[in-house]
Amino acid sequence: MTTTTFPNSTQGETRTVHIREVGPRDGFQNEPETIATEDKIRLINALGRAGLKRIEVASFVRPDVIPQLADGVAVLRGIDVPADVSRMVLVPNSKGLDNALAHRDLFEEIALFVSASETHNRRNINRTVQETMDDVRGMGKRIVAEGVSYSAVIATSFGCPFEGPVPMERVLDLAERFAESGATELGFGDTTGMCNPAYASRFFAAAVERLPGVEITAHFHNTRGQGLANAYAALEAGCRSFESSCGELGGCPVPAGSTGNIATEDLVSMFHEMGVDTGLDLDRLIAAARDAQSTLGRKLTSHSIVAGPVIWAPAV
Ligand code: ZN
Repeated sequence: MTTTTFPNSTQGETRTVHIREVGPRDGFQNEPETIATEDKIRLINALGRAGLKRIEVASFVRPDVIPQLADGVAVLRGIDVPADVSRMVLVPNSKGLDNALAHRDLFEEIALFVSASETHNRRNINRTVQETMDDVRGMGKRIVAEGVSYSAVIATSFGCPFEGPVPMERVLDLAERFAESGATELGFGDTTGMCNPAYASRFFAAAVERLPGVEITAHFHNTRGQGLANAYAALEAGCRSFESSCGELGGCPVPAGSTGNIATEDLVSMFHEMGVDTGLDLDRLIAAARDAQSTLGRKLTSHSIVAGPVIWAPAV
């Protein structure tokens, strides 16, 4: 087990955060080669045993568009995670929702998504933002009627690689429209790593205030090495839900070079050292990330994979 005393943590205050692991979907989607179904299943099972209560497992996208995720149903059927783990699937449109709901017993959460910027949305899912949001209302109703947890993700919330700045007002307006359609969780994605800690601080303070009763989730990428600093800023601004990816897997299909979500084990290491409770077993997370690394046959960029957890020598 991970050491449980954290000499450098903030005294007298325990904060608890929720972490959703997105490596099996967001991460593997961006791998150039297709990963064997059994390898995905082994990783997800290991992540479940590390204490993760939320895991993004699969997406119901067209297999010809994203062949890496074509085995989503087989993965969902094959995994063996504790009963209190919430399995999430990503759905891009009504057709994807039809497919997902045909396998209603295999997951607990559905995520819908849009990009805050027009160009990124078009390049990612070939539709305008308005077309996507027009569909969201009906899809949200169906998800809620099925009794499935409904969360929404807004990509390029902190900047677009094609259009540059994305106004906060535009992002929060989209978030409100998702909430009106029944979403109980709103994730804000720094899809290509354009956020900085000062902006994260302002943004999450505004989001928490603007969306009462909605869980606010930060999804940072470490594209330019600012992922953990952004996560810290979001935490201080009141955000208590985060998404990350084992081994720092992931990125974005467009544009090329959009590497890596923040690594789950690095995020958890930082939180534990600060005295923030994640409910996760860091040693097991690192073991799972190392297993993912050997499955992929290349070095992953997570720091904790290399360094391991912080070891505090016993006081003498
Ligand atoms: Zn991501």
